[in-house]
Amino acid sequence: MRGLYIGRFQPYHLGHQAVIHKIVEEVDEVVIAIGSAQVSHTPENPFTAGERMTMIYGALEDLRDRCYIIPLQDVDRNAVWATHVQSMTPAFDLVYSNNPLVVELFAEEGIEVRKPPMYGRESYSGTAIRKLMVEGGDWKNLVPEQVASVIVDIRGVERLVNISRNDISNN
Ligand code: ATP
Ligand code: MG
Repeated sequence: MRGLYIGRFQPYHLGHQAVIHKIVEEVDEVVIAIGSAQVSHTPENPFTAGERMTMIYGALEDLRDRCYIIPLQDVDRNAVWATHVQSMTPAFDLVYSNNPLVVELFAEEGIEVRKPPMYGRESYSGTAIRKLMVEGGDWKNLVPEQVASVIVDIRGVERLVNISRNDISNN
């Protein structure tokens, strides 16, 4: 049995990691699809697909040989999106998601969707973590240590701060 887990992973955090650990209890292999793969360097999507792959690969450790990490470009046509996903991934038997649109689009294709439990959603949230990064808060304890190292190596916080500035003043 193979399960699919889709996210933007901007960045990959401990909530995502807890979901993966839950999924591997239920299926043999997990396809981790990195959505909006073509988008980077924006306040909502600061990291490239390659950077996100590196973060996830590092965090998976001993689960690596049971996971595929696949970058997935957007197609801005919801009606054909589930087929697009299937065309870009190894075959999967079921999907794990809490995103209502993702649930709907796969359910309409007759694919089983399971909703993983939410883990510490107040803090384990991409939006909350990016906000902490911009504000100089403590984000490192909200992501796996390998993810924090990648973000430090690529000067990710500096990038996010820079691209979150506006061009109204000079600072
Ligand atoms: P953003 O705020 O940027 O949307 P996010 O934390 O929701 O970030 P996504 O990449 O959008 O991260 O999430 C991918 C999947 O993981 C979604 O199905 C989302 O519901 C789920 N998810 C996100 N955070 C958690 C969490 N803390 N526990 C369980 N599932 C989560
Ligand atoms: Mg989200």
